[in-house]
Amino acid sequence: MRKIIIAIDGFSSTGKSTVAKQLANKLHYIYVDTGAMYRAVTLYAMQKGFISNEFFYKDDFILNLQHINLEFKFNDKLGYAEVHLNGINVETKIRSLEVSNLVSKVSEISEVRKKLVEQQQQMGIHKGIVMDGRDIGTVVFPDAEVKLFMTASAEKRAKRRYDELIGKGDIVTYDEILENVIKRDHIDSTREDSPLVKADDAIVIDNSDLTLEEQFEKIYTIVIEKINN
Ligand code: C5P
Repeated sequence: MRKIIIAIDGFSSTGKSTVAKQLANKLHYIYVDTGAMYRAVTLYAMQKGFISNEFFYKDDFILNLQHINLEFKFNDKLGYAEVHLNGINVETKIRSLEVSNLVSKVSEISEVRKKLVEQQQQMGIHKGIVMDGRDIGTVVFPDAEVKLFMTASAEKRAKRRYDELIGKGDIVTYDEILENVIKRDHIDSTREDSPLVKADDAIVIDNSDLTLEEQFEKIYTIVIEKINN
C-alpha cells in the first residue's frame, strides 16, 4: 500500500488525537500530536519563569528557544509516542489546565512556530504519518493527501475534556474548562501567524453527534479510498 500523509486539524478537544491514534495503529503509521509540542514548549517557559498568568518575558524566552529539545518516544504499553522535553517525559504535565491556559500565548509566537514546523516537516519526510494540530493541512503539509477538519459544539468539547481531566484526578470545574476551550479557539483562530482555518481542500467532520466507532468508520473509508487511488 502506498504511504500518504494524513493531516487532521480543528478546534480544541474535538477528538483529533483519538482518531489520529486509531488511524496510525490500523495503518501502522507514525502519529504526531503537534499540540503536545506546543504544550511542552509552554511547560518549558513556565518552568524557567518566562511566563505565568501575570507576565510573559517574551524576548528572553525567544532567546532561549535553542535550548529546547523535543522528542517523541514510543510507549509500547500505551501504543503511541509520548513527548519528551530535554530528555524528560512530560506527557502528563503538559495536559494540565495551567498549561492549557497559557499555550495559546506561546503558540502565537512566530519563532516558536518556525522551530516546531521545521521539526514536524522533517518527521513527515517518508510519509506514512498522521499528524494533528491547527495548521497541518494549511502550513505544515499543504500537499497532504488527506486533510480533515474536525469540529463539534464548544459544550460537547468542554464536557469531553472535563471528563478526561476528572478521570485523571484533576480538580477542575466544567465552567473553567468551557471558558478555556472558547478562549483558546478564539486566540488560535485570530492569531496572525498560521491561524486555525480550514484548508480549502479539507473535509469537515462534525462529530457532535457521532460515536467514536461511527467517526472512525467514516474517516477510515475516506483514507482507504485515497490510498487506493
Ligand atoms: O491540540 P491541543 O489542544 O493539545 O493544542 C494545544 C494548543 O497548541 C492549541 O490551543 C494551539 O494554541 C497550539 N497548537 C498550534 N498549532 C498546532 C497544534 C497546537 O498552535 N499545530
